[in-house]
Amino acid sequence: MKKIYENKRIRVFWEPEKCVHSTNCLRGLPQVFDIHKRPWVNINAAEAEEIKRCIDTCPSGALSYEMLEMDKQ
Ligand code: SF4
Repeated sequence: MKKIYENKRIRVFWEPEKCVHSTNCLRGLPQVFDIHKRPWVNINAAEAEEIKRCIDTCPSGALSYEMLEMDKQ
């Protein structure tokens, strides 16, 4: 399963079966990654660059991203 969360700046991919529960994402950007919320990824709660940097700390590849053009819908 691959879920996608996106806005104009960034597209985040979530593959739960790859997650090793390091909690890097939850500790790194708790306003974006919150397992108590639905959806658990709030893509608009931080700048795309911050989300990118946080996802770069994901050790398993469960979270990945693609940066998008600002003017792309
Ligand atoms: S950082 Fe990656 S491996 Fe760690 S909890 Fe988040 S999604 Fe899972």
